[in-house]
Amino acid sequence: MSPNTDRPKEDTKRATVVTRFAPSPTGLFHAGSYRTALFAYIFARQNGGRFILRIEDTDKERSKKEFEDNIIESLKWLGLEYDEFYRQSERTEIYRESIRKLIDSGHAYVSDESQSVDKLQGRTSSGQARSSVIRFRNPNKKVAFDDLIRGRIEFDTTELGDFVIAKSMEEPVFHLVNVVDDMDMGMTHIIRGEDHISNTPRQILIFEALGAKPPIYAHIPLLLSTDRSKLSKRHGAVSMTEYRERGYIPDALVNFMALLGWHPAPTPGEPEKEIMSLEEIIQTFSLDRVQKSGAIFDDAKLNWFNKQYISKLGDSEFASYASAFLPDWIAATSPQFGRLIQILREKISVLGDIKTALSPGGELAFVHSLPDFHAEMLLWKKDPSKEKARMHLEKVQSLLAAISDDAFTAESIKGAIWDYAEAEGKGDVLWPFRMALTGQERSPDPVMCAFILGREETLKRIDSSLKKLSAA
Ligand code: GLU
Repeated sequence: MSPNTDRPKEDTKRATVVTRFAPSPTGLFHAGSYRTALFAYIFARQNGGRFILRIEDTDKERSKKEFEDNIIESLKWLGLEYDEFYRQSERTEIYRESIRKLIDSGHAYVSDESQSVDKLQGRTSSGQARSSVIRFRNPNKKVAFDDLIRGRIEFDTTELGDFVIAKSMEEPVFHLVNVVDDMDMGMTHIIRGEDHISNTPRQILIFEALGAKPPIYAHIPLLLSTDRSKLSKRHGAVSMTEYRERGYIPDALVNFMALLGWHPAPTPGEPEKEIMSLEEIIQTFSLDRVQKSGAIFDDAKLNWFNKQYISKLGDSEFASYASAFLPDWIAATSPQFGRLIQILREKISVLGDIKTALSPGGELAFVHSLPDFHAEMLLWKKDPSKEKARMHLEKVQSLLAAISDDAFTAESIKGAIWDYAEAEGKGDVLWPFRMALTGQERSPDPVMCAFILGREETLKRIDSSLKKLSAA
């Protein structure tokens, strides 16, 4: 392989653009596959073309319906709509015709494999069951193509030998079906991972033998983990389903993934634009700007994107996303959850963090119930006087009791107690107040805690701490 630095120009004028995503349903839908689908989709959409989903399930042993379903669901969740759908296992007839055509024209032949099997096993062929496959007659020549990302690539196909294109007339294999479908479906651009570069010369030979001009290729860089090794499960390369379950927002994933190997052209004097909707990406994307080197998949960066998207969600959108991530005791539609949205939006990176924060041991666990704690915890460490704690709690209670239920907002709570806290010492006033509401070492500030709990519960918890102090 000899990649060249001169890239051909994108030629999208010659026909309506048709791209495809052609996954083999042999596992859960992963980040790398999704990124390939996304680039093919974006390119089709920006050129007003068609985007096809083709399930490459000719490998009967490894292909599973559940994986096909997972691919379809994930594409839907991430908002990638396809215009046509095909399943290779339903197209045997079409492949048979092509195999026949290749045999008739002398480009393929039925090869008796029993001899080679015998040779391998050191036996003679007498008495053996015959086994045959269909092989492509390799013209043994140089094949070259102009990859939109990697430039000119040349191969000498001699070393590929006469490769197998079908196990029988009814059992075509990858290279054959891939090419026949790309021809039949009018593919203009093949956008796929660079791990397929080595398949391209065989496929070009088949295109030529079938009398077709090969499509334009764009082999996109692979995804690497932050230590530049191949992306693996250990590095967070989990299925898209798992990303969904962990609480990533689809738009955030789409945005993050589009920037794996591609960046918009910079605008002089402006910071690099990172937050982009799929529509904006479609407007600005260009295969010319896809890099050749591997793209780093950084989970921390993905979390940053997700946080940005979460912070932009309106309250009702936030609540509907959050609904799948709540413990049983709180409903996304409840006023109590409504009061939690602001603080959650500030604190979380993924929606799964909501459940952690609200569960026992979490920073917001106090919302569900006040843990049992010792009266001494109410005493401010710099002035641990029971009398002062009682005095400040009583004062705060009376200041808050004067606010009506409807007006019990973070602003009015702060307005009511702030002057007093500043005059008496913030730690002296706010420590017992926060402890009375939460019983937790770590929690948001007491004004926020009071707002989240609401007026009635706030006054009740202060009351019970006053009782605790009297009993101590
Ligand atoms: N079915 C192949 C795969 O899942 C894709 C082939 C192609 O895109 O040409 O890797």
